[in-house]
Amino acid sequence: MARAVRIVRIQCAKHSRSTISPHTYALMGRGGNIGVFVGADEIFVVDSQYEDLTESILETIDSIASKPIRFLVNTHSHSDHIGGNSNFAARGTTIIAHQKVLERLIVQNFDSLGNPRGRIRKSHLPKITFTDQLELQTDPHHQILVFHIEKAHTDGDCIVYFSAENVLHMGDVFFNGRFPFIHQEAGGTIDGVIAAVNQALILCTEETVVIPGHGVVGTTTDLKNYRNMLQTIRDRIFKAKKRGKSLAEIIAQNPTKEWNTSHGQARIKPHMFVEDVFRSLSL
Ligand SMILES: [Zn+2]
Repeated sequence: MARAVRIVRIQCAKHSRSTISPHTYALMGRGGNIGVFVGADEIFVVDSQYEDLTESILETIDSIASKPIRFLVNTHSHSDHIGGNSNFAARGTTIIAHQKVLERLIVQNFDSLGNPRGRIRKSHLPKITFTDQLELQTDPHHQILVFHIEKAHTDGDCIVYFSAENVLHMGDVFFNGRFPFIHQEAGGTIDGVIAAVNQALILCTEETVVIPGHGVVGTTTDLKNYRNMLQTIRDRIFKAKKRGKSLAEIIAQNPTKEWNTSHGQARIKPHMFVEDVFRSLSL
């Protein structure tokens, strides 16, 4: 049976929280969704949203458990996922990310839609990086597995699996109920996103709670439906592109039509997603 989930809305003046497992919480606010794991002696966090929300986020985490926040993993380099890094670091939290996240952040900071936002402070940067995968043993029975995902939303994405809790944080590889943004200038591709979701589904059972980068906390079925949608739209665009259709002609064919109402109301509109897919597909 799937766990009941109620989401913390970080930006609200009055905070509430909901358990999605005895040790795992999802905090939902203005930026990317945050995952919180409460171990026996310490807390582990996935992503840090925006800098101006940190105080609110920390208050919420403190209200869940009064323990040190030992580690924070960034799922990728966008500012709505790394914005609070400095504030966490100032409290003694060690920031972890894929090597590509560090390489990108040293040069340039990008917002959630890939617009350049200048340089960031050194204190924002991850202190520990990895290239393939990472395993954290928070206490004897709880492993946290961090897997790098190749060229999906960006080239430095990771997904985080809380194995004992059967909770998976997908970062922006999964936009639940929305069309995804694929940041091609940062190495993202549609085929990489589909491959990443297929990889993630290998970890999932029917019971897995799936925290998306954006959108409400979901299930394995939500993730499968998302994969099926991406694959269908990708195949339609690929076939049309192969037949020599232009981007404008393919947009006019409306290859996203079944999902325009359900998925096209957020920031990435149907034509924007079609364009991202079109440009990231090589024939
Ligand atoms: Zn992102």
